[in-house]
Amino acid sequence: MAKPIAVYNDVHKSFGDVEVLKGIDLEIAPAEKVALIGPSGSGKTTIIRMLMTLEQPTSGTIVVDGQYLWHMEKNGELVPANEKHLRQVRGDIGMVFQHFNLFPHMSILENCMVAPINVKGVPKKEARERSAEMLEKVGLGDKLDDYPSQLSGGQKQRVAMARALVMRPKIMLFDEVTSALDPELVGEVLEVIRDIAKEGEMAMVLVTHEMDFARDIADRVVFLDEGRIAEQGTPEQVLENSKSERLNSFLSRFR
Ligand code: ADP
Repeated sequence: MAKPIAVYNDVHKSFGDVEVLKGIDLEIAPAEKVALIGPSGSGKTTIIRMLMTLEQPTSGTIVVDGQYLWHMEKNGELVPANEKHLRQVRGDIGMVFQHFNLFPHMSILENCMVAPINVKGVPKKEARERSAEMLEKVGLGDKLDDYPSQLSGGQKQRVAMARALVMRPKIMLFDEVTSALDPELVGEVLEVIRDIAKEGEMAMVLVTHEMDFARDIADRVVFLDEGRIAEQGTPEQVLENSKSERLNSFLSRFR
């Protein structure tokens, strides 16, 4: 396997007294598409939020693109990456949330331009061109000057995707991006993710309850259960030939 783009090594996470991740070991290859599935509360979101540096582990090591994001000293102390590396990681990772988190007072073009200009120092003209191109790609090329309030939920989610893609991330994280949408809008958003996945070069980690979608686009499906990786493998192995009772029972809810 090529050098992984992200590695979790014995990662634990507690909120107060509750341990929600109980030793996660996970490697993500460049360009690999990983679907994270599992019951609500099993820790899926926490896993991807840690890559985005939105949560810090309680113990363990996370490496992104060959550099520590967090690592444990011999004395058990958890040491974060330095500011420079943290900034770089945040620039290399794009995340799309369940709720779109767009800036309401900016046009959708401006929404996409903010991060490249402020975080990566991209000149304004180039940021505008890149943003327009990305909005075109997600099917919103005719709405550049619209404000988020003028758009449907599916369109807003596509803006959120364009906004993340404009940063040209090495890893894209998708956190249940269709769960807040009306059912008739889910398809258009999944279609855009499929298109992005087909282009190939980015790693993707998708927390999803859309099992057909996971089967279609994932190279690997990881089943998380009570803070542990309980099973993983190809979509066929995990979704069609699952070994454990827990996984079978989880999957039966989607059949
Ligand atoms: P999933 O994405 O699989 O639904 P999460 O990673 O969101 O699971 O949450 C795992 C557990 O951690 C849940 O029990 C949730 O309530 C808890 N949790 C998540 N974030 C916080 C937080 N900031 N403070 C306290 N508990 C949290």
